[in-house]
Amino acid sequence: PSTPDPSDFLAVDAGLDDDERSIRDTVREFAEERLAPHVAQWYSDGGLPVRDLAAEFGKLGVFGMHLAGYGCAGTSATAYGIACRELEAVDSGLRSFVSVQGSLAMKAIHRWGSEEHRQQWLPAMAAGEAIGCFGLTESDAGSDPGSMRTRARRDGSDWVLDGTKMWITNGTAADVAVVWAQTDEGIRGFVVPTDTPGFSAPEIHRKLSLRASVTSELVLEGVRLPEDAAFPDVRGLRGPLTCLSEARFGILAGVVGAARNCYETALRYTLDRHQFDKPLAGFQLTQRKLADLVVEVNRAGLVALQISRLKDAGTLHHHQVSFGKMANVRAALEVARTARTMLGGSGITLEYPVMRHMANLETVLTYEGTEEMHALSIGQAVTGLPAFR
Ligand code: FAD
Repeated sequence: PSTPDPSDFLAVDAGLDDDERSIRDTVREFAEERLAPHVAQWYSDGGLPVRDLAAEFGKLGVFGMHLAGYGCAGTSATAYGIACRELEAVDSGLRSFVSVQGSLAMKAIHRWGSEEHRQQWLPAMAAGEAIGCFGLTESDAGSDPGSMRTRARRDGSDWVLDGTKMWITNGTAADVAVVWAQTDEGIRGFVVPTDTPGFSAPEIHRKLSLRASVTSELVLEGVRLPEDAAFPDVRGLRGPLTCLSEARFGILAGVVGAARNCYETALRYTLDRHQFDKPLAGFQLTQRKLADLVVEVNRAGLVALQISRLKDAGTLHHHQVSFGKMANVRAALEVARTARTMLGGSGITLEYPVMRHMANLETVLTYEGTEEMHALSIGQAVTGLPAFR
C-alpha cells in the first residue's frame, strides 16, 4: 500500500463513484480558478458580484443540482455534498449562496409549490437567471420560528402580507422570496416576486463573518398577492423544516471543505517557514497540531460521506442531520482555530484564508439551527425527551 495522500488521508474520496468524482473535479477547478483569486477582495469589500456569479453557478449546474426535472441536474445527494465541499473550501459565503438558492428557495418550490410555481421559477433559478431567498427568521423569532409575527391575511381572494424577516441570505439580490407567515390555518409559505409593491430588502452591513455573502432584512408592508401565491398543501413548520434539513446537509458536507483548506494552508505554511533554522513543520508541537487537523478533517469527511449515503438511500433522519451539522461545524471551527495559530501573525490577515474561514464558521455554527438546537435534537433522539422549551 502507498503512503496516505496528505490531502485525503483516509482515502474518503475512494468511496465516491465516477460521476461524483467528475463533479468534484469540475467544481474544484471552477472554485480554484474563478472564485479563489477574488474571494479575499469580495470579503474585504463585504459584497459579491451576485448576478455574474449566479450566471456562472447556473452554467456550472450547481443550483438545485440534486433536484429532479425543471432544468435541475438530478445528481445524487452525495455529489451535491461534494460540490458544497469544493465551494466552501473557498468560502462559506459562496456555499451559502448555492445552498440558499438550491436547498432552501428551490427546494421549497420544488417540494411544496404548485405546478405553476415550479414551471415559473425553477428552470430560471437552475440557470442562475433568477435568484431566490428564503425568509423564515425574524428579529424576535430565531431558534423558535413558530413564534414568528409575519402575518398573511385574506382580503377577498387575495393575500396581504405584513411583517419583517431578519438575516436573510441573498435577500437584497433576490427576484423571488419564499416567505413563511402566520395565517388563520397555521404557518404557510408564499412565493413572493420581489418587485411586488410593499416589498423591500435592505442589506445588513457591518458583519464580521460571512462577508462574501449578501444578508438582508425583508420588509413586507401590505404586500398583496393572488390566492395562488401560497404553497397549496403544507401547513405548519413542517414546510420550512423540510427545506432546512436539505440546507443543513449542504452545510455538514460543505464545512469539510473549509476545514480541509485551513489544514492544507497550515501544512504548506509550516513546511515553508523556517524558525530556529528548520521548518516549523519539523517541530514536534507543530506535528501534533497537524495530526489533530488530519484527524478532524478526515473524520468530518467520513461523517459527511456516511450521511450522504443515508440520504441517497432515502433513510436519513433529521436527527442524523443534526449529528452531522453539530459534529462537522464544530470540527471545522477547531481546525480553523488551530490552523490560525500555526500561521502566527500571518494567520490574522486576508493574505491567507484561515481567519476568514474561522470568522465564517461562527455564522455557520449559528445559522440553520444553532449548535445548541442540534444538541437538543440529538438529546431528544436518544432520550425520547424533548428539551426545547
Ligand atoms: P437565538 O435563537 O436568539 O439564540 C441565541 C442563543 O440562545 C443561541 O446560542 C441559541 O442556541 C440559544 N438558545 C435559544 N433557544 C435555546 C434553548 N431552548 N435552549 C438552549 N439554548 C437556546 N434565516 C433565514 O430564515 N434565512 C436565511 O437565509 C438566513 N441566513 C442567515 C445568514 C446569516 C449570516 C446569519 C447570521 C443568520 C441567517 N439566518 C437566516 C438566521 C439564522 O438561522 C438564525 O440566526 C438562527 O436560527 C439563530 O437565531 P437567532 O440569531 O435569533 O438566535
